[in-house]
This record gives sequence, structure tokens and C-alpha cells, in this order.
Amino acid sequence: MRNTPSRLTRTWLATISVLALAVTGCTARTAADPADSRPVVLTTFTVLADIAGNVAGDKLRVESITKAGAEIHGYEPTPADIRKATQAKLILDNGLNLEAWFTKFVAELDVPHAVVSEGVQPVDIAEDAYRGKPNPHAWMSPLNVRTYADNMAKAFAKLAPAHAAEFTANAEKYKQQLTEVQQRLTGALGKLPKEQRALVTCEGAFSYLARDAGLTERYLWAVNAEQQATPQQIAGAIEFVRQNKVPAVFCESTVSDAPMQQVVSATGARFGGVLYVDSLSEAGGPVPTYLDLIRHDVDTIVAGLTK
Ligand SMILES: [Zn+2]
Repeated sequence: MRNTPSRLTRTWLATISVLALAVTGCTARTAADPADSRPVVLTTFTVLADIAGNVAGDKLRVESITKAGAEIHGYEPTPADIRKATQAKLILDNGLNLEAWFTKFVAELDVPHAVVSEGVQPVDIAEDAYRGKPNPHAWMSPLNVRTYADNMAKAFAKLAPAHAAEFTANAEKYKQQLTEVQQRLTGALGKLPKEQRALVTCEGAFSYLARDAGLTERYLWAVNAEQQATPQQIAGAIEFVRQNKVPAVFCESTVSDAPMQQVVSATGARFGGVLYVDSLSEAGGPVPTYLDLIRHDVDTIVAGLTK
């Protein structure tokens, strides 16, 4: 939570973006575009917005409440988010306790919402205060995202029944791509020698990916709500890296990598790079879509763990 930008910082950033828009005369379709009459679907974070956009095609206007790069677990919705949400026809959340802020947020609104992880078999968190609770990062297995796509197609069919067949067809097409990216994931990570298959990250966000790829997962903290690593957590990771001769460690784009750099200094392991989980990058960045996110993470992990 302490790494989350303060409300003041966010207000300041919002002001900057408004100014930037004014300066560039940006004509991108936004919520304020009166010419766009499509029903608005809001998602809680950018990864879901991209997946939903694939299922919706051009029939719905899909937008994310949190922006690229945002910390999504402990997000504090702004008055502008609430105003935007009151105009929405549907809100999609991940569920599995991902969005700590969401229950209160939707309780204040008269807008239907759908939980896209419904039907996914959760992996439980093994450590910390969250022990035994479902790990929320189910989208880190593309196979689970097939279920997300089906759930979205169903929710969209209720919202716009005239386009139900198109949503189903879009979901099927996207599921093919999910299967392909899953094969790439298991294929590339499966080639790593057994003794190099240890994935050390900041947040425990890779349980599903590690399960699919046969990696041993080790992290500094279980869920980002407590993203300041304790000395015990850092010491534990250092011991693990030394004992297993782990060649590289990683950290995610939405949190500070400072605690992991301490592990790097203490062990001589390389910093293997930034992994994306809780957010896509901006459009021009390395992971503008969910499929890019999986490809990028797989490539980064393989490069880091290959000696
Ligand atoms: Zn997370």
C-alpha cells in the first residue's frame, strides 16, 4: 500500500493527462465522445479490458477503470471513476479477492456486474496471512482465460442479445489464440533444465503459470496489499536463491523492485527483468495486449534462467 501513489499525486497526474490531451488535441474515443453510442463495459484493470475487447469486437465500448501501470489490489476509486461507472451498462471484475476495493465500489452503483473468473479452479496461496485463500492471478494461465472469455461472451449476450452469436464466435477465435500462447508457454519453459526451473518474483502472482510450466515458485510477498517486503521475506528469498543457485530473479511492473535488488546484491544472481501481471503497458510499450504479456513474460523468464 505504501508504494501506491498518493491521492495528491494521482490528482496531479490526472491534471497532467488532461493538459497533455489539450495540447496534443487527442481525438481518441473517450467516455466523453458523444458520437460513440455503443454500450459501455468497464473492467477493473487493463488486462481484463483487452480480453473483453477481443470478445466484444466493435459492438461494445470496453474501458478499464484502473490505468496502465496502476496498482490494482489496493486501488482507491476516484469520484471520476464513480461518475464513469454510473454511465456503464456492465462492469467486469476478476473476483477471487483480487480487487479489494471493488465490493464497496459496485455496492454504490446500480450497474450489473459479472465475475469473469467464475468456474476457474483456483490455486490456493501457500504462505503469509493469505494462506489457504485463492490466488487471484488466475489469468496467468491462458487456459483459465478461455473460461474468462466464455464468461464475458455470456455477460455480453445478456447486455446486447442481438450480437450474442458474434460474441460467442469472437470468444472461440480468441480461445484458439489462448491455446497457442499456452503451448508456447509450456514449450519454452519446459525446455529449461530441471535445476534451473525456479521462478523468484516480488509478488506471488505466478502460481498458475508456475503450475502450468513445472516451475518452482518463490516470492517476496504473497499479495501486493503488503508490498513492502519484510527483512524475513528478503532473507528467505536470499537463502532460497543461494541454496538453489538460481541464476536470475524478477520483479513486476506495478511495484518497486528495490527489495529484489537487495536479493541481487546479496546473492550475485542477475536481475532478470520486469514481468507484467497486474497491468498491461501503454499502447506503445512492451505488452499492449494480454497475449503480448504472456509472450513477454515467457521470453524474459527463459532468457533470465538460461545460464
Ligand atoms: Zn497482483
